[in-house]
Formats: sequence, structure tokens, C-alpha cells
Amino acid sequence: MRILVVEDEHRIAQAIKKGLEQERYAVDLTFTGTDGYDMASSESYDLIILDLMLPGMDGITLCKQLRKNNIHIPVLMLTAKGQITDKVAGLDAGADDYMTKPFSFEELLARVRALTRREGPVRKTTLSLDDLTMDTKSFIVKRGGAHISLSQKEFALLEYLLINKGEIVSKEKIIEHVWDFDADILPNTVEVYIKNLRNKIDAPFVGKQPLIHTVRGFGYVIGDDE
Ligand code: CA
Repeated sequence: MRILVVEDEHRIAQAIKKGLEQERYAVDLTFTGTDGYDMASSESYDLIILDLMLPGMDGITLCKQLRKNNIHIPVLMLTAKGQITDKVAGLDAGADDYMTKPFSFEELLARVRALTRREGPVRKTTLSLDDLTMDTKSFIVKRGGAHISLSQKEFALLEYLLINKGEIVSKEKIIEHVWDFDADILPNTVEVYIKNLRNKIDAPFVGKQPLIHTVRGFGYVIGDDE
């Protein structure tokens, strides 16, 4: 899951980035509305955390512009305390949710999880396929009850595959959603991570159906390709 944070208060912005990275998200950060708009229109994000008052372009305008240009990435708007009318304006502009500053990081995470799930507001924290389960809150991954230890990026990769289970995802798509802008990732790196992941979730389970499949020339699919 890749998230764009647009927030001009550097201290808050850095804290959000650091906190989200610890939770296995890839995070890009920008401090102005204009840069935020450019990045949101050119990169593939799964969520935008957007401050309301920003230099360059304010959050409301930014959100309206995105929606006007048919970019429907979920937006979590941040507002300062007591700006009730701003909250309403934010939702009217096409934001999916809002939070009032100051907020607890736990609450931010719960909203991020809710907004990045396809099910929308349903706060589902478990992803599964056959006898593989992944808890995106506690980071516990198991297959047939056996505990599997994954690195942060392996976890993020498996999460992305599971969210798109049954669908072929290209290496390019994986790079866009699992790594941030600063990470200089080549398609070969994805192959290495897929190999490592297979060594952990498929190879040790002899006699069981492999979960990750390569679709030559296209990418990868977890589960059956429908
Ligand atoms: Ca601000």
C-alpha cells in the first residue's frame, strides 16, 4: 500500500510518514498543495492524507481538482480543531473521511486501514487465501497454523497480492504500490522479493497447492487466475 502525505507542518508530516512506514506502508511526503496535486495525478497511490491549509493549493481545491480529473484515490482530510465548516467543505469536495488535529496515531491507522480496503468502510484486518491468513493489524502471517516470519517489504508485497487475489498484477504495478518514490526499484528486484516470499509461504509446505503463480510476460497472481 502506497500513501501520499500532503502536510506543510514538517513535524507532523514526518511523524505520520515514520509511523506509517513502521506499519509497512510505502510513504511519499510533500509539503505544498501544488506538489501534492502533481504527485497525486502522476503516481499510483492507494490513499492520500491531505491537510486542509496548505501553501500553493489548499486541500479543498486539491481534492476538487482530483475528482474533476477523474482521480478517485481515497482522501483522508486533516483539519485543525473546531473547523466544522471546513470538514463539511472537505467532504463536499470529495474527501472520503476526515480527522481533526491533534489525533492519536492509532485512530489514524484505523482510518487508513478502512480507506485502503476495497470493502470501504468495513474495517477488515484479516486477509486470507486457502489456509494462509494475514492479520494486517498484528502483522501475524500463518499458513495452516504455522507462523511465517516476513520482512516489512515481503509483508507489504503479500498484502498487495492478497488484496488483488485472483487478479494478475504486473511488476510495474507492484513497484508502484509497494515501494515509495525514493526507492529505486527495478523489475528484477520484484522477482527477488517474489522468490523470497515463495520460499516462505509455498516452498516449506510440501504437498500443498502453491499460492503464488507466475504469469509469463504479465506478472504474478496469488490464488486462481479467474
Ligand atoms: Ca497546514
